[in-house]
Amino acid sequence: MEAIVNLLHYAIQAKLIAALDYDYAFNRLTRSLDIDIDYQPYNPNKAVDKDIDTILKPLLDHAVKIKKISPDTTQMRDVFESEIMDIVTPNPANVQARFEALKEKDSVAATDDFYQRSQKSNYIKMNRIRKNTFYKVPSNYGDIEITINRSKPEKDPKDIAKKKIETNYPECLLCKENVGYHGHANHPGRSHHRIIKLSLNHDVFYFQFSPYVYYNEHAIVLHEDHIPMNLWKHTFKRLFDFVDEFPHYFLGSNAGLPIVGGSILSHEHYQGGRARFPIDDAKSFYSIKKESITYELLNWPLSVIRMRGKHREELIEAAEAMRIYFAAYSDESLDLRSKSTDMHNAITPILRKNQDTYQLTIALRNNRTSDTYPDGIFHPHPARHHIKKENIGLIEVMGLAILPGRLHTAFNHIEAILKGTQDTFVGITPYREWIETLKTKMPVDNIRNLIEQSAGEIFIQGLEDCGIFKQTPKHRDKFKQFLEGYLSWHLKS
Ligand SMILES: [Zn+2]
Repeated sequence: MEAIVNLLHYAIQAKLIAALDYDYAFNRLTRSLDIDIDYQPYNPNKAVDKDIDTILKPLLDHAVKIKKISPDTTQMRDVFESEIMDIVTPNPANVQARFEALKEKDSVAATDDFYQRSQKSNYIKMNRIRKNTFYKVPSNYGDIEITINRSKPEKDPKDIAKKKIETNYPECLLCKENVGYHGHANHPGRSHHRIIKLSLNHDVFYFQFSPYVYYNEHAIVLHEDHIPMNLWKHTFKRLFDFVDEFPHYFLGSNAGLPIVGGSILSHEHYQGGRARFPIDDAKSFYSIKKESITYELLNWPLSVIRMRGKHREELIEAAEAMRIYFAAYSDESLDLRSKSTDMHNAITPILRKNQDTYQLTIALRNNRTSDTYPDGIFHPHPARHHIKKENIGLIEVMGLAILPGRLHTAFNHIEAILKGTQDTFVGITPYREWIETLKTKMPVDNIRNLIEQSAGEIFIQGLEDCGIFKQTPKHRDKFKQFLEGYLSWHLKS
């Protein structure tokens, strides 16, 4: 089984393990794979394939043959792969010590190293992520970015809302107890998953990368306990602590409410990373400076206030005041009601640092439903559901669409229909009306481009549905009045 020897050499060359670990890892791998092979010593000059999936394939095929992987599904292959990659991944305390040693000198070096290792160990499966579609769509708001995610199944907001009461071990996909967890048919294998312990505003959090990397160095920062999402003053303090420690990263929190929140509401967590988003280039239609903070109202599909300033404490007070002020804000003319039997208003804050200036971007959200809009008044409306029906979380607020994988197949079929080589396909129903609209735009030179751009435009309309104040002169005036009301209330108190 040459593959075992290849994997060990790969791991040493990738600096996942040291040459001194060779015999130990050799013995553990042969045992895990239930295989009897002749010992081959470590050879520092051995040429090894750089592609981890090519190296792993014969090992996984063997595991299928001896029923260590059963049934033979991608999920169960991944579970077993994680188990064998764990053998060539340093243990959690070593990963932590290495991260801290690098961070002493340079926080960029620490996150770079952890990110590289997360890819080399195939915890982040770059070969799959490269299959995602990425393109841009020009709009009145600037270029909006679209990804079609083919490495993660899509979720329905109703399932997400239900998940709140689930109790299993680990309680959810974010819990720190996932580290080293073997996994099964309904839970991904996390044997070689590693996380970094941090302190944010005196609370223990863990830093990890998302295995699905929707954007560069997509990080998740999770609370040590499985406690529900709750956005309050401490959230802002934690975001500021984080960007002070990692000024090359942004960090944001989803609202703690269903429909307008993230996909996991049951576990307190934030999302960050080393990436810029379309919202960072959004223009403002109104701006005002009060004390040391500049407030801007953005030309953006959602209702967004950007605050800039150098004084951390002042910004934290301003953000907390915004949260409280908006929580009680209603306007019948906008169909905005802050309260029925439940509270409906929430904010999505996103913080980054540009040199010594903090930039805090706050989106106003409301999750009320009505008879006309049972999925949410400020949620993509039913006419957009063939493109996007899931929650609009903070990544999409920033102008990066994460569209469901089913669209990749649907686009292929629709392209064939528009070319006239196909009449229909299984699952065509939600797309029928859209296909008729696309037909009216034919002929075009690039049919795929027509489909992709149109889907992007529909996604942007879905974002506009989420806006509390629409981008009309009348609504912009109302948004200005909202900001003025907030400022006079906040600065007086
Ligand atoms: Zn959890």
